[in-house]
Amino acid sequence: MTASPIARVIDGKAIAAALRAEVAAKVAKAGFTPGLAVVLVGEDPASSVYVRTKDRAAREAGIAARTIRLPADTTQADVLAAIQTLNDDDSIDGILVQLPLPKGIDTKAVIEAIDAEKDVDGFHPTNVGQLADGRPGLVPCTPLGVMKLLRAVGVEIAGARAVVLGRSNIVGRPMARLLLAANATVTIVHSHTRDLAAECRRADILIAAVGRPEIVRGDWIQPGATVIDVGINRLPDGRLVGDVAFDECAKVAGAITPVPGGVGPMTVACLLENTLTAALARRRG
Ligand code: NDP
Repeated sequence: MTASPIARVIDGKAIAAALRAEVAAKVAKAGFTPGLAVVLVGEDPASSVYVRTKDRAAREAGIAARTIRLPADTTQADVLAAIQTLNDDDSIDGILVQLPLPKGIDTKAVIEAIDAEKDVDGFHPTNVGQLADGRPGLVPCTPLGVMKLLRAVGVEIAGARAVVLGRSNIVGRPMARLLLAANATVTIVHSHTRDLAAECRRADILIAAVGRPEIVRGDWIQPGATVIDVGINRLPDGRLVGDVAFDECAKVAGAITPVPGGVGPMTVACLLENTLTAALARRRG
């Protein structure tokens, strides 16, 4: 019996390390220290881990990182005031508010309060509009990271049939816009889609961003397709899995990202790149 062919496993960790090194080299050449402020409201354990990771990665790249910790019972007015202080602080080039925010705080109002030029998450309506309009602005880190992964492994995007599973403002929608800007033929599928499997099976490039453990099965994959798994799901037994059933899909796909070690590291690396981009743009004026 011949063994099933195994897809190329895309090493997001290595590609992200190369990007971080590139950002660090550019920062060293820039002649100034970019500043990143991460606002963390409350004590969500997963958020605290993400914030520590971002903080460490920023420092390693020569970016001055500051975490502003506010208690879970902070009022909306206090969060907005903290953001205003950061908007006015000339040493800060990037502001990131760690989501989700505690109940009672209006996420949209908080994001809209961030100076669009410092919005390194790319969630401010000005940056969302620029991306929708096909103009360069600050682009959300996770979909930006996915585009860089696709390019790093030489996937042909122009003309490819790309299917994006999920339509959140954080991942799915900006992902689809970036793929469209790169001339893919893009389909977005979501919880109201009639036949998810059939839609996914048409994809040359499949991006899964659903938040449902291993929802994408091996028979949803077109042979040879590139499969990018954005999902991060913690199972009751403590295991971390993506939205893609890796072992099944790797037998069919041409290339596939693992979880962990795929998209996650790229998100952090792109945050550093966005901070540098914002810093350079602010200094150009
Ligand atoms: P959201 O919950 O905001 O969005 C999920 C999307 O998936 C929605 O559009 C929803 O459809 C769709 N969906 C949910 N269930 C189904 C289903 N059964 N069938 C079809 N579609 C479904 O999640 P996010 O976009 O924020 O995150 C998605 C995943 O990516 C999560 O696991 C998250 O942890 C991970 N993530 C990873 C990051 C990284 O750095 N690797 C960064 C950000 C997120 P509808 O709109 O119809 O409700």
